[in-house]
Amino acid sequence: MLIHTQPLRDFVTQAFVAAGAEQPLALETADHLVLANLKGHDSHGVGMVPTYMGNLLNGNLVPNAHAAVIKDQGSVIHIDGQFGFGQVVGREATEIAIDRAKANGLVCVGLKNAHHLGRIGTYGELCGDAGLVSIHFVNVVGHNPMVSPWGSREPRLQTNPFCCVIPRDGDTPIVLDMATSAVALGKVRVAFMAGNKVAEGALVDHEGRATDDPRAIYEEPRGSLGPFGRHKGYGLALMCELLGGGLVGEWTMQPGNERVGTVVNNMLTFVLDPDVFGGHNAFQSEVLAMVDYVKGAEPGADFDRVRIPGEPELESKAEREAEGIPIDDNTWNGIVAAAKHAGMNDTEIEAFTGAS
Ligand code: NAD
Repeated sequence: MLIHTQPLRDFVTQAFVAAGAEQPLALETADHLVLANLKGHDSHGVGMVPTYMGNLLNGNLVPNAHAAVIKDQGSVIHIDGQFGFGQVVGREATEIAIDRAKANGLVCVGLKNAHHLGRIGTYGELCGDAGLVSIHFVNVVGHNPMVSPWGSREPRLQTNPFCCVIPRDGDTPIVLDMATSAVALGKVRVAFMAGNKVAEGALVDHEGRATDDPRAIYEEPRGSLGPFGRHKGYGLALMCELLGGGLVGEWTMQPGNERVGTVVNNMLTFVLDPDVFGGHNAFQSEVLAMVDYVKGAEPGADFDRVRIPGEPELESKAEREAEGIPIDDNTWNGIVAAAKHAGMNDTEIEAFTGAS
């Protein structure tokens, strides 16, 4: 089915409110999830609603919690997300980082105990839109690992996203925002729900053989996701684990830590005001000229043109805003079941379904 942005956002907001979230926080979270769908990342869109709802109802997600500064040393700030909606505490932590980077030129912010932060690019884009550079190292804990280190068939890590954003004068920022696994877990879930395959070799079956079948993750005997880029992607995933998880969250995937079935992100963020180097115009002129140079490269076989990071998301957004967001039946049924679980009745749900 194809659903338009506004009714989808309203429905998800209403479901979170039914589960105890204050309306503005429910709306902010719904908005983030729908934007992830619009930007083509269905893995981090409304398909996450059943997971969030489960965690709301079992207490692992605290609906109305806010980011709390636990240590402020000027250019280094430690923040506790208190297991609130990642979308809310992540934005709050980023706003603190932006203010401080503008004042001091550079800030390092550690956000721990955020319930799933969703698309990390969202926080990088806030920085980029404010004219700032940002770098984010994130780990994912609270459940069993699903990503194997390079050279192993056994999972030890999660999809640990990395993000780096560069602002552009008069244009959208350059946004590199990626899982460090060969494929994001949510994309495996979306493929599994829809009965599709994932990219060849992105997964490893229980015997350590490369596979494109998502059943290797969601059915027994279970395999794992491989890292992207062989040993290099694995290395970056480990750095995300040790910086986001070890340094900021004091919570990595090592087995001494609890795994209760929730999804918690810990994030180390650096935000830099490029003006501190004094060459704003020179920097921007290099960025713009380099982007033109890269994009001017002749496309390879099977490609229409060269893109820069962040562009595919903008293309998807334009297309989906016009045509609607595709949602497969299994995902949709899961969202409706989650809304009912939260206390929405059939009439409320039908009112929405009729509007979609
Ligand atoms: P992806 O592979 O679709 O894209 C990764 C990056 O590559 C993006 O910056 C994209 O703009 C860029 N890109 C894609 N195609 C390109 C092209 N042809 N030319 C140039 N650049 C291109 O993304 P992913 O790795 O599947 O991650 C999806 C999302 O999942 C991200 O938003 C990430 O933050 C999120 N994520 C979140 C968590 C979490 O725990 N919160 C965990 C993992 C991933």
